[in-house]
Amino acid sequence: MPYKVEIRSILESLSASREVSGSFGVPDVALGDQSYRFNGPVEFDITLTNAGAGVVASGTAHAFVQTSCVRCLCDLAVEVEAEVEGFYVRPGNADEFPEEQEVEFIADDSTIDLEPAITQSIVVEMPFAPLHDPECRGICPVCGGDLNVAECGCAVDRHPSPFDSLKGLDLDVENPS
Ligand SMILES: [Zn+2]
Ligand SMILES: [Zn+2]
Repeated sequence: MPYKVEIRSILESLSASREVSGSFGVPDVALGDQSYRFNGPVEFDITLTNAGAGVVASGTAHAFVQTSCVRCLCDLAVEVEAEVEGFYVRPGNADEFPEEQEVEFIADDSTIDLEPAITQSIVVEMPFAPLHDPECRGICPVCGGDLNVAECGCAVDRHPSPFDSLKGLDLDVENPS
């Protein structure tokens, strides 16, 4: 949902600034096969500064997100912290900036929406392939058992290697004659 901020007070003078802290709810996010559900709102602390050509938003945001381990699929809670950067200009001034400069527009002469920049910064910081533990052993592809809980004994070659086919050969590599 939009987070509108009235910035008339800092538009009058160069380098005037104000602090904005707040929170807002964000819908679930999916990145590829991985889905992320927000446990509560995204919270942020941002400073808005009149930089002449526009208003710069700079600060931090954080959120608690529920997702799942990519190996064993167990539920997993992660805290996501992000640096927020935003740049807001009057609609008539957009041509003054190079195309690669991402700008958003100041609406109704004095209102900006902080939500897109904050949500974007959080999404970028989400772990792409989260693991509940760096050593997670995953799920047995044969029986579906969680290998973190118990070794199931299925005959699975968990670490196929190009040298496996040599294992059956009786090579005397220790004492080459
Ligand atoms: Zn796991
Ligand atoms: Zn198994």
